[in-house]
Amino acid sequence: MACTLSWPVGLDFARRSIQAGQQCVGCLCSQKVMVLTMGHAIQQFVDVGKRAGFIALNDKEVYWFFGATCPPKGMEKGADPEMIQREVMENLAKDFPPVYLDVVKNSDLSSLTWAPLMFRYPWDILFGNLVQSSVTVAGDAMHPMTPDLGQGGCSALEDAVALGRHLGNSIAEHGKLVIGDIGFAIERYAKERRLRVATLITASYLSGWVQQHGSNRFMRFLRDVFYGLLLGRVVKGITKYDCGKLHGVSPLP
Ligand SMILES: Cc1cc2nc3c(=O)[nH]c(=O)nc-3n(C[C@H](O)[C@H](O)[C@H](O)COP(=O)(O)OP(=O)(O)OC[C@H]3O[C@@H](n4cnc5c(N)ncnc54)[C@H](O)[C@@H]3O)c2cc1C
Repeated sequence: MACTLSWPVGLDFARRSIQAGQQCVGCLCSQKVMVLTMGHAIQQFVDVGKRAGFIALNDKEVYWFFGATCPPKGMEKGADPEMIQREVMENLAKDFPPVYLDVVKNSDLSSLTWAPLMFRYPWDILFGNLVQSSVTVAGDAMHPMTPDLGQGGCSALEDAVALGRHLGNSIAEHGKLVIGDIGFAIERYAKERRLRVATLITASYLSGWVQQHGSNRFMRFLRDVFYGLLLGRVVKGITKYDCGKLHGVSPLP
């Protein structure tokens, strides 16, 4: 089957993801005491162009992150973990609450990564070329998105179901996979996924944008509207999405 998650030769579309104008660091820290006293709720802190937070993963580990629109020079991908930790504590997040800085201080440096956030313009998904012959893309290769709604992996799984269903329909129709039908199945898959993933990219980006772009009156108003009126509906629409059922699979002999 000529379908791949990496960049297929000739499908130039997959190479054109762009930086979303933010960079993000993610890390684990061991902090049993904090988990016990604060529970497992997510804590988030925002400032102009900066956003940080942490959440307990279990009784021993806390995941923390920091995102900024303008990281200082030298903080490019692959920078030294100790330097990143120092930069976050002593510069980028120095005005954030001590409870957050304490988490950063206790980081497991081997798990610390810093990278630019990537996304693809939704109109490139809606109108771009997702298929070439019997080759297509799925997951992040098709629709990289900012992490604000936690949908990158979920939508990659939806892709897999949709692609499997369209190929399965062809098998169900002919009793076997007919080579000439693969291209049509892939076309139908791409058509089905365009609007869904373009919506997710847009909603994720806007969700991050309203959180991180300051606290003047207008932004506070936008945030109130987004979180008070829109987010619940957006999330409901996203999580209630039905990507369909796969054909039954015969048990192995
Ligand atoms: C910190 C973090 C938190 C996240 N949280 C969430 C969340 O809460 N919910 C959610 O839905 N999503 C989340 N995501 C996003 C999610 O992880 C991705 O969207 C998802 O993993 C994309 O799946 P994929 O299969 O498309 O790509 P990947 O998971 O990146 O898989 C691609 C694979 O291809 C391999 N590969 C690359 N190039 C080649 C090559 N040339 N040859 C062979 N193999 C190759 C890579 O090694 C990799 O194993 C998170 C991501 C991060 C980084």
